[in-house]
Amino acid sequence: MRTVGIIGAGIMGSGIAQTVASKGMDVVLTDIGLEVAEKGKSGIANGLSKLVAREKMSRTDADALLARITPAADYSAMSGCDLIIEAATEREDIKAKIFEAAGKVLGANAIMASNTSSIPITRMAANSPDPARFCGLHFFNPVPVMGLVEVIPGLATSQETIQRMKAFGETLGKTVVLAGDEPGFVVNRILCPMLNEAIFVLGAGIGSVEDIDAGCRIGLNHPMGPLTLADFVGLDTLYEIMKVFHSTTGDPKYRPAPLLQKYVEAGWYGRKTGRGFYDYSGEKPVPTR
Ligand code: NAD
Repeated sequence: MRTVGIIGAGIMGSGIAQTVASKGMDVVLTDIGLEVAEKGKSGIANGLSKLVAREKMSRTDADALLARITPAADYSAMSGCDLIIEAATEREDIKAKIFEAAGKVLGANAIMASNTSSIPITRMAANSPDPARFCGLHFFNPVPVMGLVEVIPGLATSQETIQRMKAFGETLGKTVVLAGDEPGFVVNRILCPMLNEAIFVLGAGIGSVEDIDAGCRIGLNHPMGPLTLADFVGLDTLYEIMKVFHSTTGDPKYRPAPLLQKYVEAGWYGRKTGRGFYDYSGEKPVPTR
């Protein structure tokens, strides 16, 4: 891969853009508008400046990485991309429109991939120009740090596409696992119900925010408590994921916790809005319940 298009410049799109550019590839980054794509690039620049200040990266390398990322207003700039990765909001209607529009500029041998956490790949492939060249490519947050990528073939994904996506993940220095096209694939199928359950536990008054997090951190040896992690993932994203699990499987065990829905309705999405199960406005996060 020489040039990679990334659609969505939020938490994940920015992280993927940084990681891809750090391996010497060029990136075209879009979002709902040029300004948002540029904001995504500024976020990457801020993160890199912190690495430079901590002497984890040289200023020259940081500048060279940033120079490889080009924010763009629309998909026309992606016609020369070998791969287009969609990392937009976890809503199937939004993603379907993206695949249709970006599909118009997709090169003859280029691959289209989605970083979706939960939406079936086979279903989304139907909106792309060539389902054989469509694949799930699921990164983990924060992308530059986390070492795993799931490759999720849809029913029509070709062997060649799978092999190219595996090789791409490895080029990024990630371990690649293959996952079936079922809600949540492998890792989120296990993780998201656990995060949702922690919110049920909180809502039922079984434990406080701090005790639930400390319980799982210390008792299960998890690096981060589930409510901290839910805030990190984004409560809006977790809510959409649980809705997809629930509607796709029809199994009531996946229904979103009512308290999760309430937080989303309040606009408390976690870290990205400054408030979720913790308040992030001060120096240290403070539990909100
Ligand atoms: P986010 O809210 O941080 O970013 C989503 C971005 O998509 C926003 O910048 C938004 O403006 C943009 N967007 C919305 N509609 C768009 C459109 N029509 N065209 C282009 N851009 C559009 O969300 P995120 O956490 O980065 O999640 C993005 C995707 O990655 C989702 O599918 C999510 O499920 C998946 N994902 C998230 C995580 C996580 O931990 N947050 C982990 C793995 C995968």
